[in-house]
Amino acid sequence: MVERETSREILKRLKEEYGEPAPMLDYETPFQLMVAVVLSAQCTDERVNKVTKELFKSAGSPEKMAALKIEELETLIKSTGFFRNKAKSISESSKMIMREYNGKLPDTMEELLKLPGVGRKSANVILGHVYGIPGVTVDTHVKRVSRRLGFTDSEQPEKIEKDVMASVDSQDWFTFSNLIITHGRKICSARKPKCEICILNDRCRLWRDKL
Ligand code: SF4
Repeated sequence: MVERETSREILKRLKEEYGEPAPMLDYETPFQLMVAVVLSAQCTDERVNKVTKELFKSAGSPEKMAALKIEELETLIKSTGFFRNKAKSISESSKMIMREYNGKLPDTMEELLKLPGVGRKSANVILGHVYGIPGVTVDTHVKRVSRRLGFTDSEQPEKIEKDVMASVDSQDWFTFSNLIITHGRKICSARKPKCEICILNDRCRLWRDKL
């Protein structure tokens, strides 16, 4: 557990270092963000953006996506990897959005989790970016860095989400997790964290334990 004041200081330093996080996936509608998030599993944002640029020309809405043949969809998204599963999820989600939500992407965690291929992490990204609803996105970076900093001792995404939420002001949940992801990518890598030059080392449990 990290004290509220410490988490505010950590966020302040991360904002100074990296600025406010901008969405890295390209999209124009909530539905398109959902598709991009599904495609981003095990794939870089750059690759996803290249693929969606073409994909959304022919199937940028749930209606058009639902009408697209699964084989065509698979071909269009093949380079993102795991394309069969992703195509199935996107196609079924599009049909569900048309059938049950009048063609509009739902805006609650509960409903988003019903869409095939959308887990808590994806739902938090969608809720945060599109609807401005705060949440803590727990990916591999948040999992690792929040443990090292001392926000949690858990390995379970849902528990990590709760532990981080308990220490960070609610309006900052989304920004916080995005900046932690950036910090994990740039400095606090899995194998060789650059602790000596880390702006958070005086607030880090792992670094303290090393000294
Ligand atoms: S001090 Fe090291 S372990 Fe702690 S956050 Fe910084 S890079 Fe990660």
